[in-house]
Amino acid sequence: MGGAGTGESGNGSKVERSRSKETDSVLAIVEEMRRLYRERVKMREEEISQLKAILDLRDAAIRQREDEVAGLRAQLTKTEEKARRTADELTAQFPLRVLELLQGAYTLKCTKCGAEVKTNVTEEQARQLLIGQPVQLLCPNPECMDEFPWGRERHSIPLTFGPMLKLKLALLGLL
Ligand SMILES: [Zn+2]
Repeated sequence: MGGAGTGESGNGSKVERSRSKETDSVLAIVEEMRRLYRERVKMREEEISQLKAILDLRDAAIRQREDEVAGLRAQLTKTEEKARRTADELTAQFPLRVLELLQGAYTLKCTKCGAEVKTNVTEEQARQLLIGQPVQLLCPNPECMDEFPWGRERHSIPLTFGPMLKLKLALLGLL
């Protein structure tokens, strides 16, 4: 009886063995799948970390470019400020500069007789020209006369701001 029992149990362990074999192969497959899955995950993680490294490099490059742009912008602002300051200074100095510029020696031609007229514009005359009042210059030619109801007078040449400035700039080679 005991033998039969053993036989049964022997049969049982055979079944168990074959079941355990099936289980083992299933487990092996599962294990293999897990391994493959882990490998996949690892590969993905590596890809992700590589992409992250690339993105970091990109970010660094972008930040550097942004810094460069900010630097250029600051430089531009500085240059603009400097240009504006210079323009302001020049504008403030303009009347004084023009006053200085207008003074000095001129050689003109009488508009009536064509005689050469030399004159030296004083500071007072320059001031007069600057505010738009003409300076009267007598023609040196004694024959060059203007007729008036009250008589004849030496022809007077009116000097005005615009033509005098133009003449001076031409004398200085700036025009
Ligand atoms: Zn004249």
